[in-house]
Amino acid sequence: MKRALNFNAGPAALPEDVLKRAQSEWLNIDNTGMSVMELSHRSDTFETIHNHAIQTLKELMDIPENYDVLFLQGGASLQFSMIPMNLLKADSLADYVLTGSWSEKALQEAKKIGTTRVVASTKDVNYTSIPKLSDIVYNQDAAYLHITSNNTIYGTQWNVFPDTKNVPLVADMSSDILSKKIDVSKFGLIYAGAQKNLGPSGITVVIIRKDLISDSLDEIPTMLNYHTHQASNSLYNTPPTLAIYLLSLVLDWAKDLGGITKIEENNAKKAELLYHAIDSSDGFYQGHAKPDSRSYMNVTFTLPNKEIEQEFLQKAKDAGFIGLNGHRSVGGCRASIYNAVPLEHCQELADFMKNFKKTYQNREKTLFNA
Ligand SMILES: *Cc1c(COP(=O)(O)O)cnc(C)c1O
Repeated sequence: MKRALNFNAGPAALPEDVLKRAQSEWLNIDNTGMSVMELSHRSDTFETIHNHAIQTLKELMDIPENYDVLFLQGGASLQFSMIPMNLLKADSLADYVLTGSWSEKALQEAKKIGTTRVVASTKDVNYTSIPKLSDIVYNQDAAYLHITSNNTIYGTQWNVFPDTKNVPLVADMSSDILSKKIDVSKFGLIYAGAQKNLGPSGITVVIIRKDLISDSLDEIPTMLNYHTHQASNSLYNTPPTLAIYLLSLVLDWAKDLGGITKIEENNAKKAELLYHAIDSSDGFYQGHAKPDSRSYMNVTFTLPNKEIEQEFLQKAKDAGFIGLNGHRSVGGCRASIYNAVPLEHCQELADFMKNFKKTYQNREKTLFNA
């Protein structure tokens, strides 16, 4: 069986080795005679898996001692609410940088909780770029500054982060966590739904500086309070055990591959293949993102008109490529090339793009001459 050429935006491709390992342990994990889904979340076997996942993520991302790793549910979307609930005090305000639909959603939720301010936005240029750091004038007293490190829908990505000093920098890294080296100590809180780079859906990773967790926020519902999850090692209630197990396998896979350095190297090669196909097409393919803001995770592009785009997407589908339609809100095409998407699949897509352009233009030439 040939694995699909999967460019889905999320849930997305998982490493084949991870799926094989899960398959090999499906009926009997750790000699328990049970599937991981049938274990008690309080059992030694599960607790070992759970702690191993936390430990491996800490290792891979070089997470300092003064940070906690939490495994939560509700997706990145619930963090849009939990962050202001836990971090935004009544007498304070939260600053947001708008770089796409997800940052807009994060802002909408924060507005329901407290006072917010938009300190930079690239909406007026249709989210084709990331603001210059010098254009972000955040409040020195802000409870935090929120950014979206990779804009999954528009295909832009921050490549340098603001140095916010005393203001905690909060980043939605759902679509680029673990894709490149970052300095965690520059952030107050990092969060990510797992279904892009970390594993299956159903689990959200929060990396939070310990001093940002308060044990005196009794008014917050228990499940929405970071302190609850910190105090119980993310085992306050029944966690998504299967998702955590698969996350732990993905992290092992990343480590075996050579860690973040190697992953970052691979991701650059993959993205360059596709951006080269765009840049060398004499304008047949147009990248949505400005070159200095291009994402290495989501490559977004359009073709000369909607009709050609439809033909491209149909032919791509016929050739076995999955998930190339742009997000329903922006249209166009998008190739999501998260960590688990193999280089060979990106090469196949780049070749397909070149061939499609050639075939299309030859046909037009023949029609024109006829
Ligand atoms: C996918 C995505 C989300 C939404 O994640 P859910 O887990 O579905 O809530 C939020 N932010 C970004 C940047 C994303 O890519």
